[in-house]
Amino acid sequence: SGMPNDLQNYWMPFTANRQFKQDPRMIVSADGMYYKSSDGRDILDGTAGLWCVNAGHNRPLITQAVQEQVAQLDYAPSFQFGHPKAFELANRVADMFPDGMDHVFFTNSGSESVDSALKIALHYHRMRGDAARTRLIGRERGYHGTGFGGISVGGIVKNRMHFGSMLTGVDHLPHTHDLERNAFTKGCPEHGAEKADALIDIATLHDPSTIAAVIVEPMAGSTGVLMPPKGYLKRLRELCDQYGILLIFDEVITGFGRLGAATAAEYFGVTPDIITTAKGLTNGIIPAGAVIVANKIYESAMENADAPIELFHGYTYSGHPIAAAAGLATLETYKQENLFERVADLAPYWEEAVHSLNGTKHVIDLRNLGLVGAIELASRDGAPGARGMDVMVKAWEKGIMVRVTGDILALSPPFIIEKAEIDRIFETLAEILPTVD
Ligand code: PMP
Repeated sequence: SGMPNDLQNYWMPFTANRQFKQDPRMIVSADGMYYKSSDGRDILDGTAGLWCVNAGHNRPLITQAVQEQVAQLDYAPSFQFGHPKAFELANRVADMFPDGMDHVFFTNSGSESVDSALKIALHYHRMRGDAARTRLIGRERGYHGTGFGGISVGGIVKNRMHFGSMLTGVDHLPHTHDLERNAFTKGCPEHGAEKADALIDIATLHDPSTIAAVIVEPMAGSTGVLMPPKGYLKRLRELCDQYGILLIFDEVITGFGRLGAATAAEYFGVTPDIITTAKGLTNGIIPAGAVIVANKIYESAMENADAPIELFHGYTYSGHPIAAAAGLATLETYKQENLFERVADLAPYWEEAVHSLNGTKHVIDLRNLGLVGAIELASRDGAPGARGMDVMVKAWEKGIMVRVTGDILALSPPFIIEKAEIDRIFETLAEILPTVD
């Protein structure tokens, strides 16, 4: 069956009690839009793995580039040494990202990108003699990975409550989600931009010159797919400029095309000072991440490179040759197949498909942006998350992979999805939803 007998030896990540009692649904291979389950069924990938397989599975250019790289150069250090593909990938990423953000620091995951971004921001102020700027501002319902930096600025209390010490001097902006007011809104809600003004209160309370950076996901993904109200990100940018605060966009999900532009920064027309990425950089084939910084930050770090306050930060696997080869082939695939434009072209069809579930049993909200969708279900009395889990299991049985966070189903298919496959996802969910308690 493909099910290992010694399941008990594997401590699976994010294993909540309820999930722990279930056998995991085993996946044995993948191609294009489809996974193959251990019982031999084709499963339509509605989630691009975990928001990472943007170009679809087993893409020849990427697979081949990795195979060739393994044989040619398995590993090379990136401290005092280098190898060409890491430099080439940095150029390609910088080309794709906003003007004025031309420098790329490589990591191995979203969590590492976030920790790196926070350290780069703190270090930037220090180098400029602004050592008092140490406070970091996140946002309620923000997810920034699992490192201590990420859980400190992250807005999910459950993710940090059992670990004692966090980063000190962290505040959180209020979340922008207003289910009552925005229910069934297509795209971004009209109202709520004024929530950004909470930064004024925080700055007033602590003195704005003590704040180093604000970090937000332009579109919150893992905490339930929450779209920013229109004007919200622009307002944050204005306030950060006013106070001399760096603005960080965590684009681990939105980076590399998910909204129909290379970045959410481009999509929303708001340029931050630092962007964190991972996932879509290598199409999920190998762990990799990147932090993209504004030129002023890089230049300032280089000017001060001989000072006692150099940025002492890097990973054994920063710019790993196999990740670099995978990244180059991934970006080439996005470009050759115009996959970001494809997302933009499919977005209106996707929007209608998501909202076709309006009126379906249990559905209390539907959200969409780019190729992202959320179906929020009413929770079963006394058992939050149970209904969402039941739908996820039934969808798997009917050959569709969806992601579930509590009672919110999240969809984020690979960009190569066809309209008929979009139809199948929502027809299947429309069939399942009335059958669950
Ligand atoms: N930031 C965001 C916005 C994310 O969505 C994620 C992963 N879902 C992370 C950070 C952490 O990335 P990783 O799991 O690769 O460490």
